[in-house]
Amino acid sequence: MPSVPETPLCLLCGRRTVLLYRSNVPNGAPIESSELACTSPHLSVHDDIFTCHRCGLARAEPPGGVAEIEESYRDVHDNLYRASEPERREDFQRAIEGIERHPFVSPGSLLEIGSSVGLFLDEATKRGWKATGIEPSRWASAQAAAMGLTVFNGMLDEFEAESESFDVVASWDVWEHVQDPLDSLKRVHGLLKPGGLLALTTVNMGGFMARIMRGRWPWFLRMHLHYFTRKSLAEMVRRRLRRSRDVDTIENAPARLHSGAGTQHTRAARRPCPQSGGLGRLARPPCPHQPWRYPSHRSAKAQKERVKFSVFTPL
Ligand SMILES: [Zn+2]
Repeated sequence: MPSVPETPLCLLCGRRTVLLYRSNVPNGAPIESSELACTSPHLSVHDDIFTCHRCGLARAEPPGGVAEIEESYRDVHDNLYRASEPERREDFQRAIEGIERHPFVSPGSLLEIGSSVGLFLDEATKRGWKATGIEPSRWASAQAAAMGLTVFNGMLDEFEAESESFDVVASWDVWEHVQDPLDSLKRVHGLLKPGGLLALTTVNMGGFMARIMRGRWPWFLRMHLHYFTRKSLAEMVRRRLRRSRDVDTIENAPARLHSGAGTQHTRAARRPCPQSGGLGRLARPPCPHQPWRYPSHRSAKAQKERVKFSVFTPL
């Protein structure tokens, strides 16, 4: 009998995962740097996706490994990102207000992981926060530095800071990109002051859209290495951080943060291209005939419960 290749183990449970969706990458092509940009149009394209039936954590298995992807973030340029700067700033204002609404939180020291060109850092700074960013892209870090912001150009595990030195760690649509979220969470825990707050958004693989669209879910992108559900995220926080309370989901967090991919999907869904007929238009990346635009608050609100969720949890 031919031997069946073993599937990877679940990062959380250590259990054997099962193949959920087979890769749909044409000819197993290597990942391109354009697929790593925040506004990447390469939606619904994924390598093999494995999931754990016990905790629900899913992971992608790029054939070339993940080290190359992580390294490629350093070279990412994303000029399209700045095209929607006013709307993104508006969202980041809501995000920092959301953090400040949390009990016992007032402007102090804040670390943003994945700070891109620094728009959130800038909005936080305006409200009195002492904000620091971590960003692997040299291009994005330089943009933030040009605004006078404090940004470490590199990865979280290269960032050196005194332990327990931040009141808040924020990360908007970052955790799905992380190679080892358990290890990163441990580092975040070490950086936060006791009782500090971790604020994050990530795509929700347990959401309605993910369940009905299955392997064609637009949030499947090759740069996403892990996919969470409410349950798996809560389990990760609980297992890793004994001090943590249950994951607290808030309903008023911005839904469209950093959502280049979501932005384009929203547009595709609302303004279907005549060339993309039937239900297929929902799953297809937008065609080039329509101008790129940021989603309205109304459409962002409509998709919030379906595609993303936000977590503000004291650690
Ligand atoms: Zn598991």
